[in-house]
Amino acid sequence: MKYCTRCGSEYQEGVEECADCPGNPRLVSAEEMRSRGLPLPHELDKRVFVRAGTAEDPLTVEAFVELLEDADIPVFVRAGRSGVVDKLTTGNLLPWWEILVPEEHQARAARLLEQERVREDATYDEAAQAAEEEEQENEAPAPVPAPPPPPAV
Ligand SMILES: [Zn+2]
Repeated sequence: MKYCTRCGSEYQEGVEECADCPGNPRLVSAEEMRSRGLPLPHELDKRVFVRAGTAEDPLTVEAFVELLEDADIPVFVRAGRSGVVDKLTTGNLLPWWEILVPEEHQARAARLLEQERVREDATYDEAAQAAEEEEQENEAPAPVPAPPPPPAV
């Protein structure tokens, strides 16, 4: 059997990637799961994974997972049950993902994710500002383009 390090799904040998997770992570062996501190599906109920945060898009999921893996926190992603409530109130099914970590790492993981979110917002503001400046530059009169070269004979 092979396993997805993100969602913990079990796959038959021969399957290489998880079909459910953003980014289609490569599947690993049971030994690899164990060495990363991740539970196998049948062990899940013995370890308590709790929510450290949520993400609304696959890129954020990737960023959060990398961040936590860098901090040596076993991390697990579960597609959100997006919503009976959303469906009823807006008719929209908004995708989101739960970032799950072992209970003992929850406080640290939540803090890391919060920092990352703040950093991302700052990056976004900078990008917006840069785009605005660029727009102003583009408003300056454009240089007259050179005439096309005469056709070769
Ligand atoms: Zn998966």
